[in-house]
Amino acid sequence: PFKTRFAPSPTGLLHLGNIRTALFNFLLARQARGTFLLRLEDTDAMRGHEKYARALEADLRWLGLVWNEGPEAGGRHGPYAQSERGSVYKEYFTALESKGQAYPCFCSEHELAIARKTALAAHRPPRYSGKCRALSPQEAQARFARGEPATLRFRVEEGKTVEFEDKVRGRQVFSTDDIGDYVIRRSDGTPAFFFCNAIDDALMEVTLVVRGEDHLTNTPRQILLLQALGLPLPAYAHIALVVGADGAPLSKRTGSKSIEELRAVGYLPPAINNYLARLGHTYDANAFMNLEALAENFDLSRLGRAPARYDEAQLMHWQREAVLHLPSTTLQEWMGDAVQALVPADSFAEFTEAVRGNISFPADALRWARIVFTDKLVVSHAAREAMMAAGPEFFATARQALETHGANFKVVAETVKQARSVSGKSLFQPLRAALLGELDGPEMARILPLIGVERARKRLSL
Ligand code: GLU
Repeated sequence: PFKTRFAPSPTGLLHLGNIRTALFNFLLARQARGTFLLRLEDTDAMRGHEKYARALEADLRWLGLVWNEGPEAGGRHGPYAQSERGSVYKEYFTALESKGQAYPCFCSEHELAIARKTALAAHRPPRYSGKCRALSPQEAQARFARGEPATLRFRVEEGKTVEFEDKVRGRQVFSTDDIGDYVIRRSDGTPAFFFCNAIDDALMEVTLVVRGEDHLTNTPRQILLLQALGLPLPAYAHIALVVGADGAPLSKRTGSKSIEELRAVGYLPPAINNYLARLGHTYDANAFMNLEALAENFDLSRLGRAPARYDEAQLMHWQREAVLHLPSTTLQEWMGDAVQALVPADSFAEFTEAVRGNISFPADALRWARIVFTDKLVVSHAAREAMMAAGPEFFATARQALETHGANFKVVAETVKQARSVSGKSLFQPLRAALLGELDGPEMARILPLIGVERARKRLSL
């Protein structure tokens, strides 16, 4: 059975780069009617991991990226937080040691740093020299007894290659000579990230790992580990990272906002999903899609290998699309308390449809709600000029038409047109300017009935 996973380390808030990885995994699982697993790669040493874990779960749920195995969802392979899996890792350390596949290493940080430097200076890969490889069990025992700290190293056979077919990047070949024996348990007893990560993928029966390209060099190490333990290998797809306008990986500094911040200003889940699903990936259709359609048409072979460039204008495009496509009631809720307080309940649906095409965020909706439903009209400079050009008689006619025929924009405009012999821009601009205080905005035929005769009359009285 097909299974993907998202395995974040809860060390901070999720941003667009992380969530894109989650989305791709989710879409692939959904498309295959498989399982999307969530695993928390936390350790007790991480500060605030509880808080960040809850926050990332909330982000995933908000976006609709619901996992069907993992924390809260449950499953047969828990616990799903690495901080609770210490005994599992211990078991596999012991297994490797007893097979002679891992050995204690007493080399100090200082010693290793010097060796690394020397290797780099000589243009050799900075791999471990193998100094502690041949320590006898007695010798190791004696040094442990003296209280010397030791890491646990995985023994890597020299002169071999590790190969795998990456689903995005194609055939990958690594030489074990470049890898060397590596640390799987630190001297403080904590397991190395890629050790837990690989073992959990195998034990949790993950079949496809989709993750950032920054993990590509971990993969041969993880494959060697799993092979040594006789555990199953997943397939791998390493996706290009998201970069900012400057070409550097997206980070807080280069303007990447957290999902929480995007939610706070009013970005909508389908906007984020539609944008991210197309970031470094192409669909045949450029139409707005729901998650189901995004999943149905997702194709790993259409992922670019080049870094995906974050483009705020594109995100805004999908935000507008989302506003255009969402049900009225969803938008009304999204507009928030301030708008709900201003708009009469029985006009809310009308208001939503009138402004839908002119808003991107709740703040925009609030601006229109103030214009339509309060007396505080701020008239822009350009609007004032348009009104001056039309002159007082134009408005006297308009006001009269309004009083006679009610808040029907077509009739009001037609009456002014006939009476004053104006048409086109010179007809519509001054009316819009006086009624809304601006030259751009929602369709007048929809908005005038909401403004109502009383308020409109005052606005037409220059
Ligand atoms: N915890 C790792 C991370 O957040 C997971 C990497 C992976 O997906 O394998 O980068």
